[in-house]
Amino acid sequence: MPIAPACSGFPRKGRVVMAARKWLLTQNSQLRKLGVFNWPLPAAEVKMPNGRFMNVCPSAGACRDLCYARTGTYRFANVLAAHTRNLMYILERPQEWAAEMKEELKHKRYQGKFVRLHDSGDFFSADYLKLWLDIMQESPDVIFYTYTKEVSLFREIVEPDVPANFRFRYSLGGREDRLLDLTRDRHAEVFPDEDAVAAAAYETNSESDLVAASDSLRVGMPANPIRHLQRLQGRETFGEIQRRQDTARAERLERARAKAAASTTAAAVEPVASKATDDPVLLAS
Ligand code: SF4
Repeated sequence: MPIAPACSGFPRKGRVVMAARKWLLTQNSQLRKLGVFNWPLPAAEVKMPNGRFMNVCPSAGACRDLCYARTGTYRFANVLAAHTRNLMYILERPQEWAAEMKEELKHKRYQGKFVRLHDSGDFFSADYLKLWLDIMQESPDVIFYTYTKEVSLFREIVEPDVPANFRFRYSLGGREDRLLDLTRDRHAEVFPDEDAVAAAAYETNSESDLVAASDSLRVGMPANPIRHLQRLQGRETFGEIQRRQDTARAERLERARAKAAASTTAAAVEPVASKATDDPVLLAS
């Protein structure tokens, strides 16, 4: 007698519990309202299961200390574990991850929809970025968007040939802000509050994060209402803090260079002086 396949009907007792499909892409409450899907990674430095640390946001600058994704719910053990699992999957089995992502994106729930890459984390390597570009090419009916601080990586790899379904926006507060032309590069700035966004004539993302995927040159966002981060930020924008830090660093470097040059000169002069002192002719005179 053939054995009935498991799917042939309900068992006599109990209910069939279908395993829920595990999606790679998720939705947080804010993005769900917009019908946007999300691919999150851990923010900044993360401790890997092997005990080593990895920096997932290599070009983070001033934003790092003000990062909403390094506090609150993002630090809940289950949330951080899920984000770290995403990262480990890419690091350990990149081709398998990309194939699964492509397959998932064929599902009807994604057609004509937006996927935001990294509401936390960033493009941590050229190889990882290229995997996404490949996924985008194979998912023409999905629109991808992202904020990124990886300016030089995008200049080199993305800007020469941007996929038609990819909208990216540079976000200020990174170590590569100095490479941006704010009159030309689409960018986002974090302001202390909504009034400051309006005063600077930036287009706010408060109504919809999808403004990030628009052609608007300047998108502004009020800082997240996280008290200790708001105190730390004060009345400056992320970009202003970064410029202040860059200037201070440049001045420190300049002082160090001047000091090094002065001690090199002194070292060059010193042997001459001591030689002169030892010179019998000079001693005699
Ligand atoms: S790049 Fe984004 S996720 Fe990373 S530390 Fe900065 S604000 Fe946070």
